Amino acid sequence: MAECAHMKDDGDCEVKLDTRPSNQQFDPKRPEGDIVISKSVGQGGVNIYDDVYNIQYGLDQVAPIDGGPSPQLVIDGKCGPKTMAAIRDFQKKHFGWAGCDGRIDPGQQTIKKLNEKRNRNVYPTIPLSLNTDGWLLSGMLQHVPHIRACVHAAMTNISLAMNVVDNNMPGLLGADRPSRMRTLNKHFRIDNFKGAKRPVLEKMHDAYSFMLNVLDRPEAYTTLDTTNEGETISTVAFARLGGFHQKDDLTGKIVFRRGVLFATGIPDFAAFIFIHELRHYIAKDGTQGHFAKGWVTDPGMLALKETETINNCDTFAGFALECKNGDMERPIWVKTTVFR
Ligand SMILES: [Zn+2]
Repeated sequence: MAECAHMKDDGDCEVKLDTRPSNQQFDPKRPEGDIVISKSVGQGGVNIYDDVYNIQYGLDQVAPIDGGPSPQLVIDGKCGPKTMAAIRDFQKKHFGWAGCDGRIDPGQQTIKKLNEKRNRNVYPTIPLSLNTDGWLLSGMLQHVPHIRACVHAAMTNISLAMNVVDNNMPGLLGADRPSRMRTLNKHFRIDNFKGAKRPVLEKMHDAYSFMLNVLDRPEAYTTLDTTNEGETISTVAFARLGGFHQKDDLTGKIVFRRGVLFATGIPDFAAFIFIHELRHYIAKDGTQGHFAKGWVTDPGMLALKETETINNCDTFAGFALECKNGDMERPIWVKTTVFR
Protein backbone atom coordinates (compact mmCIF):
# COMPACT_ATOMS: atom_id res chain seq x y z
CA MET A 1 0.00 0.00 0.00
CA ALA A 2 1.30 3.41 -0.79
CA GLU A 3 0.67 6.23 1.54
CA CYS A 4 1.40 9.38 -0.32
CA ALA A 5 3.25 12.22 0.43
CA HIS A 6 4.35 14.86 2.81
CA MET A 7 5.52 18.22 1.59
CA LYS A 8 8.65 19.49 3.21
CA ASP A 9 9.41 23.19 3.65
CA ASP A 10 11.83 23.27 0.76
CA GLY A 11 9.46 21.62 -1.63
CA ASP A 12 10.86 18.15 -1.41
CA CYS A 13 8.34 15.44 -1.11
CA GLU A 14 8.11 11.90 -0.04
CA VAL A 15 5.87 9.05 -0.90
CA LYS A 16 5.51 6.73 2.02
CA LEU A 17 4.49 3.15 2.37
CA ASP A 18 2.29 2.26 5.28
CA THR A 19 2.66 -1.51 5.26
CA ARG A 20 5.39 -3.86 4.31
CA PRO A 21 4.80 -7.35 2.98
CA SER A 22 6.25 -9.58 5.68
CA ASN A 23 7.64 -12.00 3.11
CA GLN A 24 9.51 -9.28 1.25
CA GLN A 25 13.20 -8.96 1.86
CA PHE A 26 13.37 -5.25 2.36
CA ASP A 27 17.03 -4.70 2.93
CA PRO A 28 19.20 -6.92 0.75
CA LYS A 29 21.78 -7.20 3.52
CA ARG A 30 19.26 -7.85 6.29
CA PRO A 31 20.14 -10.90 8.35
CA GLU A 32 17.49 -13.58 7.94
CA GLY A 33 16.16 -15.31 11.05
CA ASP A 34 18.29 -15.34 14.19
CA ILE A 35 21.55 -13.49 14.12
CA VAL A 36 24.49 -15.88 14.24
CA ILE A 37 28.08 -14.68 14.54
CA SER A 38 31.16 -16.69 13.66
CA LYS A 39 33.56 -14.94 16.03
CA SER A 40 33.32 -12.54 18.97
CA VAL A 41 32.15 -8.95 18.46
CA GLY A 42 32.90 -5.93 20.65
CA GLN A 43 35.58 -4.93 23.14
CA GLY A 44 38.64 -7.07 22.44
CA GLY A 45 36.65 -9.20 19.97
CA VAL A 46 37.71 -10.57 16.56
CA ASN A 47 35.17 -8.21 14.91
CA ILE A 48 34.74 -9.72 11.47
CA TYR A 49 32.88 -7.28 9.21
CA ASP A 50 29.79 -9.46 8.65
CA ASP A 51 29.53 -10.30 12.34
CA VAL A 52 29.75 -6.65 13.38
CA TYR A 53 27.28 -5.65 10.67
CA ASN A 54 24.73 -8.18 11.86
CA ILE A 55 25.16 -7.26 15.53
CA GLN A 56 24.72 -3.56 14.69
CA TYR A 57 21.64 -4.44 12.67
CA GLY A 58 20.25 -6.51 15.53
CA LEU A 59 20.96 -3.86 18.17
CA ASP A 60 19.13 -1.28 16.06
CA GLN A 61 16.09 -3.53 16.14
CA VAL A 62 16.00 -3.42 19.94
CA ALA A 63 13.81 -0.75 21.49
CA PRO A 64 15.68 1.67 23.78
CA ILE A 65 13.50 0.51 26.68
CA ASP A 66 14.94 -2.96 26.09
CA GLY A 67 18.50 -1.67 26.05
CA GLY A 68 18.72 -0.76 22.37
CA PRO A 69 20.86 2.17 21.20
CA SER A 70 19.32 5.63 20.98
CA PRO A 71 20.01 7.12 18.52
CA GLN A 72 20.44 4.05 16.39
CA LEU A 73 23.92 2.87 15.42
CA VAL A 74 25.33 3.54 12.00
CA ILE A 75 25.47 0.09 10.43
CA ASP A 76 28.89 0.01 8.82
CA GLY A 77 30.42 -3.30 9.92
CA LYS A 78 33.05 -1.47 11.96
CA CYS A 79 33.20 -1.98 15.70
CA GLY A 80 33.89 1.51 17.04
CA PRO A 81 33.29 3.10 20.45
CA LYS A 82 29.56 3.61 19.82
CA THR A 83 29.00 -0.02 18.89
CA MET A 84 30.93 -1.20 21.95
CA ALA A 85 28.98 1.20 24.15
CA ALA A 86 25.72 -0.10 22.68
CA ILE A 87 26.76 -3.68 23.48
CA ARG A 88 27.62 -2.69 27.07
CA ASP A 89 24.33 -0.82 27.49
CA PHE A 90 22.41 -3.83 26.21
CA GLN A 91 24.29 -6.18 28.56
CA LYS A 92 23.88 -3.86 31.53
CA LYS A 93 20.14 -3.76 30.94
CA HIS A 94 19.75 -7.53 30.92
CA PHE A 95 22.65 -8.92 32.99
CA GLY A 96 23.65 -6.02 35.22
CA TRP A 97 27.20 -4.82 35.72
CA ALA A 98 28.48 -8.37 36.19
CA GLY A 99 27.56 -9.35 32.64
CA CYS A 100 28.73 -6.13 31.08
CA ASP A 101 32.05 -6.79 29.32
CA GLY A 102 31.21 -5.12 26.00
CA ARG A 103 31.75 -8.33 24.05
CA ILE A 104 29.36 -10.73 22.36
CA ASP A 105 30.53 -14.33 21.90
CA PRO A 106 28.98 -16.90 19.57
CA GLY A 107 26.29 -18.96 21.26
CA GLN A 108 26.55 -17.15 24.61
CA GLN A 109 23.97 -15.29 26.68
CA THR A 110 24.24 -11.87 25.01
CA ILE A 111 23.56 -13.11 21.47
CA LYS A 112 20.67 -15.24 22.78
CA LYS A 113 19.17 -12.26 24.59
CA LEU A 114 19.71 -10.04 21.56
CA ASN A 115 17.76 -12.39 19.31
CA GLU A 116 15.05 -12.55 21.95
CA LYS A 117 14.70 -8.78 22.20
CA ARG A 118 14.96 -7.88 18.52
CA ASN A 119 11.78 -6.51 17.01
CA ARG A 120 11.93 -8.25 13.64
CA ASN A 121 9.41 -5.78 12.20
CA VAL A 122 11.70 -2.82 12.74
CA TYR A 123 13.99 -2.10 9.81
CA PRO A 124 17.10 -0.17 10.78
CA THR A 125 18.08 2.71 8.58
CA ILE A 126 21.12 2.04 6.46
CA PRO A 127 22.27 4.62 3.92
CA LEU A 128 22.10 3.26 0.40
CA SER A 129 25.20 2.99 -1.73
CA LEU A 130 25.16 3.45 -5.50
CA ASN A 131 27.59 0.56 -5.78
CA THR A 132 25.82 -2.09 -3.76
CA ASP A 133 22.25 -0.81 -4.00
CA GLY A 134 22.30 0.39 -7.60
CA TRP A 135 19.94 -2.45 -8.49
CA LEU A 136 17.20 -0.55 -6.65
CA LEU A 137 17.65 2.38 -9.02
CA SER A 138 17.90 0.19 -12.10
CA GLY A 139 14.80 -1.64 -10.89
CA MET A 140 12.99 1.67 -11.09
CA LEU A 141 14.56 2.79 -14.37
CA GLN A 142 13.60 -0.44 -16.14
CA HIS A 143 10.08 1.02 -16.19
CA VAL A 144 11.08 4.19 -18.07
CA PRO A 145 9.67 2.88 -21.40
CA HIS A 146 6.30 2.29 -19.72
CA ILE A 147 6.47 5.67 -18.01
CA ARG A 148 7.27 7.35 -21.33
CA ALA A 149 4.28 5.59 -22.85
CA CYS A 150 2.05 6.92 -20.06
CA VAL A 151 3.35 10.47 -20.58
CA HIS A 152 2.90 10.17 -24.35
CA ALA A 153 -0.66 8.94 -23.85
CA ALA A 154 -1.38 11.96 -21.65
CA MET A 155 0.05 14.35 -24.25
CA THR A 156 -1.97 12.75 -27.03
CA ASN A 157 -5.15 13.07 -24.98
CA ILE A 158 -4.43 16.74 -24.31
CA SER A 159 -3.54 17.44 -27.94
CA LEU A 160 -6.78 15.93 -29.18
CA ALA A 161 -8.73 18.10 -26.75
CA MET A 162 -7.01 21.38 -27.61
CA ASN A 163 -9.06 22.10 -30.70
CA VAL A 164 -12.39 21.38 -29.06
CA VAL A 165 -11.85 22.65 -25.54
CA ASP A 166 -13.01 26.22 -26.21
CA ASN A 167 -15.62 25.25 -28.75
CA ASN A 168 -18.92 23.92 -27.52
CA MET A 169 -20.34 23.24 -30.97
CA PRO A 170 -20.64 19.48 -31.23
CA GLY A 171 -19.31 17.86 -34.33
CA LEU A 172 -16.97 20.66 -35.35
CA LEU A 173 -13.99 19.19 -37.23
CA GLY A 174 -15.52 15.82 -36.58
CA ALA A 175 -14.49 15.99 -32.95
CA ASP A 176 -16.79 14.79 -30.23
CA ARG A 177 -16.13 17.29 -27.46
CA PRO A 178 -17.60 15.34 -24.51
CA SER A 179 -15.60 12.23 -25.31
CA ARG A 180 -12.40 14.14 -25.96
CA MET A 181 -12.78 16.07 -22.69
CA ARG A 182 -13.99 13.18 -20.56
CA THR A 183 -10.69 12.01 -19.05
CA LEU A 184 -9.35 15.55 -18.80
CA ASN A 185 -12.44 16.66 -16.93
CA LYS A 186 -12.38 13.63 -14.69
CA HIS A 187 -8.84 14.35 -13.50
CA PHE A 188 -8.30 18.06 -14.05
CA ARG A 189 -11.91 19.35 -14.23
CA ILE A 190 -10.94 21.65 -17.07
CA ASP A 191 -14.52 22.76 -17.65
CA ASN A 192 -14.60 24.35 -14.20
CA PHE A 193 -12.17 26.98 -15.44
CA LYS A 194 -13.63 30.31 -16.40
CA GLY A 195 -12.50 31.88 -19.64
CA ALA A 196 -10.31 30.36 -22.31
CA LYS A 197 -9.33 26.82 -21.46
CA ARG A 198 -6.87 26.08 -24.24
CA PRO A 199 -4.00 27.91 -22.45
CA VAL A 200 -4.56 25.61 -19.48
CA LEU A 201 -4.16 22.57 -21.72
CA GLU A 202 -1.06 24.08 -23.31
CA LYS A 203 0.56 24.46 -19.90
CA MET A 204 -0.22 20.88 -19.02
CA HIS A 205 1.09 19.68 -22.37
CA ASP A 206 4.31 21.61 -21.75
CA ALA A 207 4.66 19.98 -18.35
CA TYR A 208 4.43 16.47 -19.76
CA SER A 209 6.81 17.48 -22.54
CA PHE A 210 9.43 18.55 -19.99
CA MET A 211 8.97 15.18 -18.30
CA LEU A 212 9.96 13.45 -21.53
CA ASN A 213 13.21 15.43 -21.54
CA VAL A 214 14.05 14.01 -18.14
CA LEU A 215 13.03 10.52 -19.21
CA ASP A 216 15.40 10.82 -22.18
CA ARG A 217 18.32 10.80 -19.75
CA PRO A 218 17.11 9.27 -16.52
CA GLU A 219 20.65 8.37 -15.48
CA ALA A 220 21.49 12.10 -15.45
CA TYR A 221 18.45 13.24 -13.53
CA THR A 222 17.87 10.49 -10.99
CA THR A 223 19.86 8.97 -8.19
CA LEU A 224 19.57 6.92 -5.03
CA ASP A 225 19.41 8.45 -1.60
CA THR A 226 22.85 7.78 -0.20
CA THR A 227 22.52 9.92 2.93
CA ASN A 228 19.24 8.88 4.51
CA GLU A 229 19.31 11.94 6.73
CA GLY A 230 16.82 11.52 9.51
CA GLU A 231 14.38 9.64 7.34
CA THR A 232 12.54 6.41 7.81
CA ILE A 233 13.30 3.41 5.72
CA SER A 234 9.85 3.35 4.18
CA THR A 235 10.25 6.50 2.09
CA VAL A 236 10.09 5.98 -1.65
CA ALA A 237 11.28 9.13 -3.39
CA PHE A 238 11.55 12.88 -3.33
CA ALA A 239 12.40 15.60 -5.81
CA ARG A 240 13.54 19.17 -5.77
CA LEU A 241 10.84 21.56 -6.94
CA GLY A 242 11.97 23.07 -10.23
CA GLY A 243 15.19 21.08 -10.30
CA PHE A 244 14.98 20.65 -14.07
CA HIS A 245 15.01 24.39 -14.68
CA GLN A 246 17.78 25.25 -12.27
CA LYS A 247 21.18 26.04 -13.68
CA ASP A 248 22.71 23.31 -11.59
CA ASP A 249 19.90 20.94 -12.41
CA LEU A 250 22.09 17.90 -12.01
CA THR A 251 22.60 18.58 -8.32
CA GLY A 252 18.91 18.57 -7.58
CA LYS A 253 17.95 15.17 -8.85
CA ILE A 254 14.93 13.00 -8.41
CA VAL A 255 16.01 10.87 -5.50
CA PHE A 256 14.77 7.34 -5.01
CA ARG A 257 14.93 5.71 -1.64
CA ARG A 258 14.83 2.22 -0.22
CA GLY A 259 11.05 2.10 -0.44
CA VAL A 260 11.17 1.98 -4.26
CA LEU A 261 11.69 -1.74 -3.83
CA PHE A 262 7.92 -2.04 -3.60
CA ALA A 263 7.41 -0.16 -6.83
CA THR A 264 10.06 -1.89 -8.90
CA GLY A 265 7.88 -4.94 -9.48
CA ILE A 266 4.68 -3.05 -10.31
CA PRO A 267 4.99 -1.01 -13.54
CA ASP A 268 1.97 1.22 -12.84
CA PHE A 269 3.12 1.87 -9.29
CA ALA A 270 6.57 2.80 -10.59
CA ALA A 271 4.98 5.10 -13.16
CA PHE A 272 2.75 6.77 -10.59
CA ILE A 273 5.70 7.55 -8.34
CA PHE A 274 7.99 8.60 -11.18
CA ILE A 275 5.47 10.95 -12.81
CA HIS A 276 4.55 12.37 -9.42
CA GLU A 277 8.19 13.22 -8.78
CA LEU A 278 8.65 14.48 -12.33
CA ARG A 279 5.84 16.96 -11.69
CA HIS A 280 7.84 18.47 -8.83
CA TYR A 281 11.05 18.29 -10.75
CA ILE A 282 9.89 20.10 -13.89
CA ALA A 283 7.92 22.75 -11.94
CA LYS A 284 8.73 26.25 -13.14
CA ASP A 285 7.08 28.60 -10.69
CA GLY A 286 7.15 26.75 -7.40
CA THR A 287 3.40 26.21 -7.13
CA GLN A 288 3.38 22.62 -8.24
CA GLY A 289 3.05 20.12 -5.51
CA HIS A 290 0.74 18.56 -2.99
CA PHE A 291 -2.67 19.97 -2.51
CA ALA A 292 -4.05 16.54 -1.78
CA LYS A 293 -2.76 13.06 -2.23
CA GLY A 294 -4.23 10.02 -3.84
CA TRP A 295 -6.42 8.90 -6.68
CA VAL A 296 -8.68 11.22 -8.62
CA THR A 297 -11.85 10.06 -6.87
CA ASP A 298 -10.58 10.49 -3.32
CA PRO A 299 -12.42 13.14 -1.28
CA GLY A 300 -9.24 15.15 -0.77
CA MET A 301 -8.64 15.29 -4.50
CA LEU A 302 -12.23 16.15 -5.30
CA ALA A 303 -12.04 19.11 -2.90
CA LEU A 304 -9.17 20.76 -4.78
CA LYS A 305 -9.58 24.19 -6.30
CA GLU A 306 -9.17 24.42 -10.07
CA THR A 307 -5.67 25.90 -9.94
CA GLU A 308 -4.61 23.25 -7.44
CA THR A 309 -5.97 20.42 -9.53
CA ILE A 310 -3.92 21.37 -12.58
CA ASN A 311 -0.76 21.61 -10.46
CA ASN A 312 -1.19 18.54 -8.31
CA CYS A 313 1.44 15.84 -8.63
CA ASP A 314 -0.87 12.88 -8.09
CA THR A 315 -3.35 14.30 -10.59
CA PHE A 316 -0.67 14.33 -13.27
CA ALA A 317 0.32 10.77 -12.40
CA GLY A 318 -3.22 9.43 -12.29
CA PHE A 319 -4.22 11.14 -15.55
CA ALA A 320 -1.24 9.72 -17.44
CA LEU A 321 -1.93 6.22 -16.12
CA GLU A 322 -5.56 6.36 -17.11
CA CYS A 323 -4.72 7.71 -20.57
CA LYS A 324 -2.35 4.78 -21.04
CA ASN A 325 -4.44 2.05 -19.48
CA GLY A 326 -7.98 3.21 -20.21
CA ASP A 327 -10.55 3.57 -17.48
CA MET A 328 -9.24 2.29 -14.24
CA GLU A 329 -10.33 2.13 -10.67
CA ARG A 330 -8.07 3.50 -8.00
CA PRO A 331 -5.03 1.23 -7.79
CA ILE A 332 -4.73 -0.61 -4.49
CA TRP A 333 -1.39 0.97 -3.78
CA VAL A 334 -2.72 4.51 -3.78
CA LYS A 335 -3.94 5.70 -0.43
CA THR A 336 -5.10 9.18 0.42
CA THR A 337 -3.60 10.73 3.50
CA VAL A 338 -4.09 14.46 3.15
CA PHE A 339 -7.48 16.05 3.38
CA ARG A 340 -8.34 19.66 3.25
ZN1 LIG B 1 5.57 14.75 -3.99
